[in-house]
Amino acid sequence: MPIQTIADVDWLQRNVLVRVDFNVPVENGRVVDNSRIRAALPTINYLAERAAKVILLSHLGRPKAQKNLKYSLRPTATELSRLLGRPVVFLEDCLGGDVQAIIGKAENGSVVMLENLRFYAEEEGNDNEFARKLASYGDAYVNDAFGTAHRAHASTVGIPSLISTKAAGFLMQKELEFLGNRTSNPDRPFTVILGGAKVSDKIGVIDALLDKCDNMLIGGAMAYTFFVAQGREAGNSLVEADRVVDAKAALQKADKKGVKIFLPADSVIADAIDFEARTIGTTKIISGDIPNGWKGVDIGPKTVEVYGDIIKNSKTIFWNGPMGVFEISACSEGTFAIAGAVAQSNGISIVGGGDSITAINKGGFSNKIDFISTGGGASLEFLEGKELPGVAMLNDNHGA
Ligand code: AMP
Repeated sequence: MPIQTIADVDWLQRNVLVRVDFNVPVENGRVVDNSRIRAALPTINYLAERAAKVILLSHLGRPKAQKNLKYSLRPTATELSRLLGRPVVFLEDCLGGDVQAIIGKAENGSVVMLENLRFYAEEEGNDNEFARKLASYGDAYVNDAFGTAHRAHASTVGIPSLISTKAAGFLMQKELEFLGNRTSNPDRPFTVILGGAKVSDKIGVIDALLDKCDNMLIGGAMAYTFFVAQGREAGNSLVEADRVVDAKAALQKADKKGVKIFLPADSVIADAIDFEARTIGTTKIISGDIPNGWKGVDIGPKTVEVYGDIIKNSKTIFWNGPMGVFEISACSEGTFAIAGAVAQSNGISIVGGGDSITAINKGGFSNKIDFISTGGGASLEFLEGKELPGVAMLNDNHGA
């Protein structure tokens, strides 16, 4: 069943419960990265302009079911108000008599934000009664929080199961379009770039994307598990011995499907690295296998060139995961070079995952990327082909 989109519904004078993802970094009571708030503005503005009361629901951090003001959403309300250029009514709780009364008094077109849903264990527990109370504040529901759509919580599943008028917000629609349609029916060649520490986190995505892509470029520590799968030496690199079998299966599948998997032709290697202290011992660049006593910590310049050429000639690109320990500058060049290549490509570029997004932002490339997914874990699960409970709930046939 198709999901309803926000443009399909008449919102006039509706009280719309909008699940947003304002789980943003806050320091000293101020939002330090407002990108998730900015990403929700089109939906909030659209509803408010159509004279709906917009009632925002979100979580922030992991307050462990305690009213811990360190995790208050108040700073996000202040930031949202600044971005909207008008007041946002912030409520110090998400439940209680005041909530109903204040929403009742609010004018059509106004924006109200409730306090962190995760101050209550019932949110993550998808408690019926909790969902029923929250649902009673509205008569329509919009989910614009793709990042939590893979969780069956009260605000993603409980509430929409009780409300018949519901839709995907603009951000949610964009996520589904870029991570869904654009990777399922891609303009070709379609190149997937995967990096990061662990094969175990990404094996589902590797497997699913091997059905869709033409090239898979692998970097990060993950590459060295693939080295071992090919019977090559990985030295002291971070290898997941129990995942070598998965890497072998991926290589075989790629072979059968005619998908080209690329591994680093050269690497930056280090004889010691302390991630916590952000320090590194001696480094050098070598071609091929990693010698004993050394760890692969970044892709080398030859690899950057090879990967860069493939990226340049691709019509669709999906990138998730850093090419090395990019938090330490001596092993960050590969990741930033790939970020630059993705940004410069004329193909449709899609980037997901916290570290790749950090690299894109730090490199100043964000305005050159077609779509930056806010999803994290949800993006990976969706790409794996799993049904996300929060998305399924937006189907017309689910719930009330
Ligand atoms: P993930 O969460 O799996 O995407 O992994 C991200 C982490 O992988 C980052 O913190 C990187 O520092 C780390 N990483 C990337 N390449 C390597 C490598 N060659 N060795 C150790 N850690 C790496």
